[in-house]
Amino acid sequence: MNTFWWLFLLVIVASAAYLLGLRRVRSRPRPENNITLQHLQLGSEIARQVSTVLMLQELLPHVVHLIQQRFGFYFVGVWLVDEAEEGSQALTLQVGSCPPGVEPPPQGTRYTFESGSVLGQVCTRGVCFPLEDVRSAKEYPHLPELSEALSALFLPLRMGDEVIGVLDIQHDTRHTFTPVEIMLLQGLADQVAVAIRNAQLYEAEQQRRKLAESLQKIGGELASSLDMRQVPQQILEQLAAVVPYERGSVMLQRDHELEIIAQRGFPDNRRALNLRVAIREDDVFQQMVQANRPIWVDDVTQASGWQQLDWLPLNRSWMGVPLITKNRVIGMISLTRKEAAAFSEEDAALVLTFAGQAAIALENASLYDEITRFNAELEKAYHNLARLDQAKADFIEVAAHELRTPLTVIKGYTQVLASRPGVVDDPDSQILLKSVMDGVNRLHEIINSMLDVSKIDNQTLSMHIEPTWLHMVVRRVAGELKEALQERNLTLTVEDLQELPWIQADSELLYKVFYHLVVNAIKYTPDGGHITIRGSKVLGDDNVPAVQISVHDTGIGIDPAHHELIFEKFYQTGKVSVHSSGRTKFKGGGPGLGLAIASGIVRAHNGRIWAESPGHDEENLPGSTFYVQLPIKPVAERYALSGVDEKAQKGHSILET
Ligand code: ADP
Repeated sequence: MNTFWWLFLLVIVASAAYLLGLRRVRSRPRPENNITLQHLQLGSEIARQVSTVLMLQELLPHVVHLIQQRFGFYFVGVWLVDEAEEGSQALTLQVGSCPPGVEPPPQGTRYTFESGSVLGQVCTRGVCFPLEDVRSAKEYPHLPELSEALSALFLPLRMGDEVIGVLDIQHDTRHTFTPVEIMLLQGLADQVAVAIRNAQLYEAEQQRRKLAESLQKIGGELASSLDMRQVPQQILEQLAAVVPYERGSVMLQRDHELEIIAQRGFPDNRRALNLRVAIREDDVFQQMVQANRPIWVDDVTQASGWQQLDWLPLNRSWMGVPLITKNRVIGMISLTRKEAAAFSEEDAALVLTFAGQAAIALENASLYDEITRFNAELEKAYHNLARLDQAKADFIEVAAHELRTPLTVIKGYTQVLASRPGVVDDPDSQILLKSVMDGVNRLHEIINSMLDVSKIDNQTLSMHIEPTWLHMVVRRVAGELKEALQERNLTLTVEDLQELPWIQADSELLYKVFYHLVVNAIKYTPDGGHITIRGSKVLGDDNVPAVQISVHDTGIGIDPAHHELIFEKFYQTGKVSVHSSGRTKFKGGGPGLGLAIASGIVRAHNGRIWAESPGHDEENLPGSTFYVQLPIKPVAERYALSGVDEKAQKGHSILET
C-alpha cells in the first residue's frame, strides 16, 4: 500500500475516532452545553406533560425523569412541604430519578425544617441554594443512596409567595452552576411548581367530587331506610367509608342523658348498647351544642376532666359531631382514634356534612317508628271502640225490646181505662189519661227510634222497595205534624214536589227521614218561623239522575263545625244538662237519634244527606237547610245483589255502601 492509501486510511480512522469521541462526549452529561436550548425544549415538554397527565403520582415521576435524563444529572428529586407533628413543617421526598444502575433514595424520606438541612432553608427563604462541594457542606442533606454526589442545586418550588417544595438537582462531578443556568433551572422549577399545584387542585377536586358522590349515595341509602333498628347502625357503617375511625357511636339526647343507640368498634356489644351517659355542665357535648359545630380533642389524656369508661381501651383522639334537625341538636356522633391528633378540620367538615344526612334519616326513622306505633295503638283503640259501639247497639236493642212490652201493656190498659164507664164522662180523668197517653206515645216513639238505629247499626233494617212519590211522603209528614206546626205558629210551605218523578224506594223508611227532618226544623225554629220543603231533579254522584229535597227553616242554625257530627247517633250540639224534653217544643232536645236514623236510611238508598247553615245564632236566626239526594233507580238494580228476586227485593237487608 502506498503512502497515499496509508494516509487515506489514517484520515478515515482519525475521522471515525473523532466522531466516536464526539459522540461519547455528547453522550456524557455536559449541562453547561446548549443549556438554554435544552431548557426551552424541556420547558415546553413539561408544559405538554402537565396538560395531558394531571394526577400527581403520574406527573412527578415523568417530570423528574425528563430533567434527569435530558441533562444527565446524577439525581433529580422533588420534595414537598407537609405538616409534621405538633404543627411544624417537614419535607417529604415524593420522587427521585438517577441514571440507570443507581437506586434513588426511597420515596417518603423526610426532613423536618428544624434539622438544619439546606432543604428547610430553601423553603423558609424561598431562594435557591447551590452547593459546589457537597462533601464539605454541613447543611447538605446526606442520603446514603447518593454517595457519588459532589455538587448540588436546591431550587424552591414557588407558587406566588408560598414555597410548596424543593427541586433537588445533584451532580456526580464538581460543578459550578452559572447564574444563567440557575435562572433557567429556576424557570423550570417554577413550571414544575405550577404543574404540581394544578395536579394537587385537580386531585382535590376529584376527591371532593368522589366524596360528594359517596355522600349523596349514602344520603339516598339512609333516606330510603325507615327502620329505627337499622338506621343508626347504617350511619356508623357508612361513615367509616367517609372518615376512618376506630370506635364510633350514635348518641341521642334523652333529657339530661345521652343514650348510645348504635356503636361500632366497641369491645363489648351488650355493655355499649342502650348505655346512658349523664350530660354534665360544660362537658364536651355541651360545648359542642353551644358551638353548634363539631369539636375534637387531639389527646384526651391531656384534656382536663375527661371521663372514660374503664372497660374501654384508651383512644387518644376524640371527635364529636352534632346531629341537628330543625336547628336543634338531637344528639351526636362520637368518634375516636387510637393515635393522638388523628382528626383534622377537614374530617370534621366531612363528618358534619354526613351528620346532616344522618340526622334527617334518624328523624325520618323515628317519625316512622312513632307513626307505626301510633297506628298500632289507633287500631287497638278502633277495635275497642268498635266493640264498645257494638255493645251499645246490643244494649239499645235489648233495652228497646224490654221497654216496648210493658209500654204496650200500659198503652192498652190506658185505652181500656179511658173507655170505662165513669171515666169516659169524667173530664178530669180524661185529661189525666190523655197526659198518660201522650207520655206513652212519646216513649213509644223513642223506643221505635232506638230500634231503628240498632237495626241500622246491625244492618238488619228491612227495605221494601216500591215506586214512591216523594210528594205523597212529604204530605203525610206535613199532615202528621200539622198540629205541632199550628201549636208553634210555624208555616210549612211545600214547593215543586208534585213535578218530581217517582223513585224506587222504601216509602215507610223515607217517611221517617222527612219526619225527623221536619220535627227538627220545628224544634229548632222559634214560634212564627217558616219551614220550606223544595224538590228538584238533579244529577247526583257519578252523574246518576236523582231527586233532591231540601228542608229549610228560619231557626237558630248550626255551627259549621257540627255539620257532619250531628249525623252521629246521640250527638247533640247543646249541653245535655239544659236538655228539655218534648217532641216539638222549641229547642226541646230528643235522644239525638233522629238524624242518625235519617242518615242511615238515606245511605241505605244509596243517597246522600247533608246540612248547610251559616252558623248557630239564636238572636239573628240564620236558619238551616237539610238536603236529601236519592237516586231515581232502585238500590237493588244498581247493586245487583246476588240472588235478589222480586220477592227478596221486597224485603232485603241493607247492604252498607
Ligand atoms: P235530637 O234528638 O237532639 O234532635 P237529632 O239527631 O235529630 O237529635 O239532631 C242532632 C242535633 O242536631 C240536635 O241536637 C240539634 O242540635 C241539631 N239540629 C238538627 N236539626 C237542626 C235544625 N233544623 N236546626 C238547628 N239544629 C239542628
